[in-house]
Amino acid sequence: SERRTFDAVAGVEDTLTMLAHEARAAKVNLLFERPREGVTLQGEPGRLTQVVTNLVVNAIHACPPGANVTVRFGQQAGARTLEVEDTGSGIPEDVLPRIFEPMFTTKEVGKGTGLGLSIIHDIVTGHFGGEILVDTRLGQGTTFTVTFPGLAPFT
Ligand code: ADP
Ligand code: MG
Repeated sequence: SERRTFDAVAGVEDTLTMLAHEARAAKVNLLFERPREGVTLQGEPGRLTQVVTNLVVNAIHACPPGANVTVRFGQQAGARTLEVEDTGSGIPEDVLPRIFEPMFTTKEVGKGTGLGLSIIHDIVTGHFGGEILVDTRLGQGTTFTVTFPGLAPFT
């Protein structure tokens, strides 16, 4: 795997295809709002796969049957963004400040390593030079927004 300019729309699409069985098993609707325009990112395509996978798997775990997980590209203050929105549990106030800590999990023993968000936080900041923002409402759902700067630094 090597840093290069790659097609992020195809990358997300392939990743969601790999996660389709997981969503189906949980009876969660996994949706991709495909952008009209192409989106290219600089970096290793496999790193984007990991970011999308960890966010979507968490979102599926937070969702009751019938809920939606929606993935979409957007733009924020000139930066490219990728959103993963779920209509699941939301994140309690006391949990929210800790979610990016390595080995922090609210899942049962053996069900979560607590590493998913910690790992992708490092990928997004270190590899893509962006950031991850969280917007959550208890009982209504959560949106994780990944921002990608115009030019990613080398790491
Ligand atoms: P793990 O999934 O192994 O618990 P993560 O680092 O991926 O570890 O997530 C840490 C914690 O953040 C989860 O245990 C959960 O409490 C919370 N969390 C992450 N994503 C969501 C989400 N979409 N909805 C609700 N809670 C979430
Ligand atoms: Mg996780």
